[in-house]
Amino acid sequence: MYKLKVQRNKCNACGMCALESNVLHEDSAGIVEVIGEGIIADADVEKIKNVIGLCPTEALSLIEDSIDVAARIAELKKKMQEPLTFTPPSKDNYEFSLEDKDQYAEELTRSSSASVDGDWEYNYKSYESAKSAGERAFRDEIYSQADALGQQVIVMYEQRKMNKVARYAETSGNYKYGVHQRLIKKLRAFVNEIESYTGKKISLPSNFYNFYTKDTEYIDNLQDHANKWVAEGFKENMKPASEFYTCVKTDKTDDYVKVSHWFGDDEYKTVKKYAYYINKESIGRFYRYVARAAWYAGKYTSKFCERELERFHKEITEEWKNKISYLLQKV
Ligand code: SF4
Repeated sequence: MYKLKVQRNKCNACGMCALESNVLHEDSAGIVEVIGEGIIADADVEKIKNVIGLCPTEALSLIEDSIDVAARIAELKKKMQEPLTFTPPSKDNYEFSLEDKDQYAEELTRSSSASVDGDWEYNYKSYESAKSAGERAFRDEIYSQADALGQQVIVMYEQRKMNKVARYAETSGNYKYGVHQRLIKKLRAFVNEIESYTGKKISLPSNFYNFYTKDTEYIDNLQDHANKWVAEGFKENMKPASEFYTCVKTDKTDDYVKVSHWFGDDEYKTVKKYAYYINKESIGRFYRYVARAAWYAGKYTSKFCERELERFHKEITEEWKNKISYLLQKV
């Protein structure tokens, strides 16, 4: 029996051999490695010699290996039935951090369409009527957007962090894709060994190397409109509008009118006027509070992500077991 060897330090990542052989795999830098034990069935020796001939740097070689086939098959069967292990991504990859909270608050302020910018508005005859008009304006123009802004924060969070973990994307660094790739490589190594030991090609279903654990439906829902329970979490953590009425200032305007005439100056008292004023800085504080409430609501999203990872591990383990039991019948 023969084994294929690669001297990785000689490989220049040209990719010629990986195209021609399913015993070889390119790592993310294009450097080739042997899948599994690199066992070559007698029937494939000529083919692999041709592949070795393609290598411009003589990085590939075939060595003869005496193998106790019965012992290796027993070992292989044991290896195939080992339970899968996962290294879930660190929570830093999908949890809100305090740092994010401030960052989101900043973006919220920039992107908000609320435009009350400290201009004097209307004049009122009494302090009370100016105050209640100001509060109404705050509620209608600013506070009413809190819910939508909170969801905006959650969506920004989704896009930046959670997608890498819970959503499937064929890019390196995506957790689900990484797990799929690892398992496909493992399956290929098993198939290789079985074929080498038995000397026969296994006829595999065309979808044998496909995994179906790619569901992203839930996250699409979440991006369209934050889930009901996230929205509830947001409301739970958001103070009522009245808590923010300190954003509204009510000031007295001109009290007196001064008139100059022949006999000197006279001051006539006018009807007192009041105006409301919505302070810009206070609005900034209000936005920070919105971001904070969204940050708390984001904790629900983090839990959702954890649940999604659990579901993924359970489903992929099931898929894996089916594939392995198929292969075990072929050994
Ligand atoms: S043919 Fe040789 S140099 Fe090219 S990828 Fe394969 S091992 Fe590396």
